[in-house]
Amino acid sequence: MKNLILFGPPGSGKGTQSAKVAEKYNLAHISTGDIFRREISNETPLGKKVKDIINKGELVPDELLIDLLRNAIKQNRDVQGYIFDGFPRTIQQASDLDKLMKEFNMAVSKVLVLDVNEEEVVKRLLKRAELEGRSDDNEDVIRNRMGVYRTQTEPLIEYYSEKGLVSTIKGVGTIDDIFEFLCKEID
Ligand code: AMP
Repeated sequence: MKNLILFGPPGSGKGTQSAKVAEKYNLAHISTGDIFRREISNETPLGKKVKDIINKGELVPDELLIDLLRNAIKQNRDVQGYIFDGFPRTIQQASDLDKLMKEFNMAVSKVLVLDVNEEEVVKRLLKRAELEGRSDDNEDVIRNRMGVYRTQTEPLIEYYSEKGLVSTIKGVGTIDDIFEFLCKEID
């Protein structure tokens, strides 16, 4: 099994690249952001709980993630592995993921980090706001999401580096260029 984690700041292209990687390697693409957006648009109890948090650019509490992940894995068993996009985002989630992987007799194979500077991602996100109208893509919320990424999620790179799992990829260029860099690391 190939179990990959794709890290990168908001707007680094994680979603786009994860979908392409999932297709090429026959992996289940698990995007917690997409799962939450679906719950919100279906107005489920979970959606109602997380809507304001997401619109502010804060993180959903860790304890709401683990069952969601377990279900996402259970629903996708006929695959060669998983690519996690937007999860884990805190040290607690990383340690929960380790336990979850053990439950399924799996392990994280590699952590890919998309390296893009802040001004570039803010520029991209403002453009995405115009095109897609995502409710958490306005400048204040974007800056907040960047801050949350730096303080809560970036420390995970160290956590996984200590396990020797991290590869950093230049996240600037065309979608195809970046996809090619990623595939080289995965292969
Ligand atoms: P994303 O599409 O990955 O940028 O996620 C959008 C928003 O969903 C984030 O800004 C968070 O509010 C929430 N979210 C997604 N994944 C997680 C996670 N693993 N932990 C906490 N909150 C999350």
